[in-house]
Amino acid sequence: MVKVVAGNWKMHHGPSATTRFLSRFRPEVEDGSVRLVFFPPHLSLAAAVAGTRVPADFGVQNIHWEGSGALTGEVSAEMAREAGATLALIGHSERRHIFGETDAEVGRKVAAAARAGLVPVVCVGELLAERRAGRLDEVLRRQVGAFAESLAGAAEFMVAYEPVWAIGTGETATPGDAAEAHGIVRDALGTLGRGAPVLYGGSVKPGNAAALVSVPDVDGVLVGGASLDPDVFARIAEACASAGRAGAGS
Ligand code: PEP
Repeated sequence: MVKVVAGNWKMHHGPSATTRFLSRFRPEVEDGSVRLVFFPPHLSLAAAVAGTRVPADFGVQNIHWEGSGALTGEVSAEMAREAGATLALIGHSERRHIFGETDAEVGRKVAAAARAGLVPVVCVGELLAERRAGRLDEVLRRQVGAFAESLAGAAEFMVAYEPVWAIGTGETATPGDAAEAHGIVRDALGTLGRGAPVLYGGSVKPGNAAALVSVPDVDGVLVGGASLDPDVFARIAEACASAGRAGAGS
């Protein structure tokens, strides 16, 4: 499977910064050797779609499950699609833990994305306290179980395993941690997950990306902080492309 290299810009890079980023982003990878994905802020989506000089897909960082309505500040999956998004990040840990998004809401958003023809990229991951309490397996199975049925209409989807303790902290899961968690996610998805990429996210950098995507069941990376600089993100894409080539050859 071609490795997915996805950047989640969170609340960074307005339209001008997006255009500047994409004019500089030139990873030395052959077309098709990695699948590049960007999740810019909603207001930068149009600039991103217009400004890319490399083949890439663009998604939104969040959607509401309703198609329209009196929901000030929200954006529907249909609107995101019309504005050029082809994917939607759903259930990111910042949505779950800062904005209080529940498993049930994640499920409704996944269903809405699937209905609108967006590829849901659903984030799961445990808190440090949950890991320390030996609850990794239970938490991941609960989170996957909460959206699995909602995938019914999705032509394609991805899951991102992002241990909450590794997001934006500089702490990274070891390849062994990632292997264990990705195995649980794959098992929880069962046949539904056949062919669906499962990405790793949490302080991915140019120096650790290759080791992480070389782990069986790690089909790519979701990168936050290190995706904000075009040269750094290009190095991550290059590392994933060569690790992918090496894996395919072994
Ligand atoms: C993320 O936001 O999904 C993420 C993994 O962030 P970071 O790479 O900064 O840890």
